Amino acid sequence: MTTLSHEAQQGTTGQGGPALPQEIRLVTEVPGPRSRELAARRTAAVSAAVGSSMPFYAAAAGGGVVVDVDGNSYADLGSGIAVTTVGNSAPAVVAAVTEQVERFTHTCFMITPYDSYVELAERLAELTPGDFAKKSAFFVSGAEAVENAVKIARAHTGRQAVVVFDHAYHGRTNLTMAMTAKNMPYKNGFGPFAPEVYRAPLSYPFRDGLDGPAAAARAIAVVEKQVGAANLAAIVIEPVQGEGGFIVPAPGFLPAIAAWAKENGVVFVADEVQTGVARTGAWFASHLEGVEPDLVTIAKGVAGGLPLSAVTGRAEIVDAPVTGGLGGTYGGNPLATAAALATLRTIEDEDLLARARRLEEILFGRLRALAARDPRVGDVRGRGAMVAVELVKPGTTEPDAALAKKVATEAAQQGVIVLTCGTDGNVLRFLPPLSIGDDLLNQAFDVLDRVFAAN
Ligand SMILES: *Cc1c(COP(=O)(O)O)cnc(C)c1O
Repeated sequence: MTTLSHEAQQGTTGQGGPALPQEIRLVTEVPGPRSRELAARRTAAVSAAVGSSMPFYAAAAGGGVVVDVDGNSYADLGSGIAVTTVGNSAPAVVAAVTEQVERFTHTCFMITPYDSYVELAERLAELTPGDFAKKSAFFVSGAEAVENAVKIARAHTGRQAVVVFDHAYHGRTNLTMAMTAKNMPYKNGFGPFAPEVYRAPLSYPFRDGLDGPAAAARAIAVVEKQVGAANLAAIVIEPVQGEGGFIVPAPGFLPAIAAWAKENGVVFVADEVQTGVARTGAWFASHLEGVEPDLVTIAKGVAGGLPLSAVTGRAEIVDAPVTGGLGGTYGGNPLATAAALATLRTIEDEDLLARARRLEEILFGRLRALAARDPRVGDVRGRGAMVAVELVKPGTTEPDAALAKKVATEAAQQGVIVLTCGTDGNVLRFLPPLSIGDDLLNQAFDVLDRVFAAN
């Protein structure tokens, strides 16, 4: 590994657009006049069912900033939901996509295959946990990867049932809505949902006080009584829950679940759509838990912002469906596979795993200091550059969603993009691009400190 590059410390600006100053700078009210004009057009033309957290419209982004159409520059603590891990318009990604877009944009891998698809499958086999033969198939969205992992597990086992967990988020398609826990807004009014999906209790140290093995025993008892191993194709779990609230299970929980799956011939699927590809300070969060999933679902951070998802796992399991059983017109599109290869190279060249661990130190430092003086911060948790605070009524564990919403809204007004999550909406989550500089990150937390103090 090379040492941390100057760009990774200071924030890269991307070579595709103008060099972007790495600063929080507001030159109009938020949202400014151009954003307000777009909002009015949007109201007339875009479905009201599609929401946006931020009231301003993007014009450029790179390093650790997003610049809006009115020229305001915001610190980005969201990365477009954990996608631009290597930075927006990261130079290597721009170069790879530019080169590919001029050669060919699409042939469909199911019609005329191409080398970058094969090379990406080879790379993911090396980078995912476990020293065994692995294969991959590529898709477009995270939800599609999860659906295909279930298809593969069913084809391999000849069984139908799927176990998921409390607070899980796996997507918005019909099968993944059934797998996602939270009704509002993801499922409300959209049923009937796919059958044979069962929910088990998660390890949630802040709320259940159980150690990992005890929480695993509780979950396994539910699965054995309500489903039965003989009917179970797959257990699907996020190693750190994303939309559900950045819940890190107690140590030993995941290994115990994985061991039970192995004993019972159940396919263990780690949904690493949010946690994967350097986000948590390891290539995959499963590495940190010491588990070797049979299948890993990968998306978000893997292709520097281009739409690509993968199922990577044990060769004999991934090979189980009939030929032609997996695929899709755009799955592993050549622009996306080129972007993914450049993303993986950038992570190695700039040692971004170390950068994610360094960001963890800064994030934990700032948030623990906040928690020490503000009793509404009930819990600080996460891994790498995937860290959150759970907000509660002081002296209780009662969720305070209103505070999370207020802080996120006011932070945006003051030049910081920060996202909320959690089944109760009371979690503020921090997912900066790994290309953000230390100075900008600290400035963003100075803003957040002031917003907390003022509310
Ligand atoms: C975002 C997410 C998904 C769904 O990915 P899409 O690309 O939005 O379909 C699935 N699983 C997890 C863990 C996610 O964070």
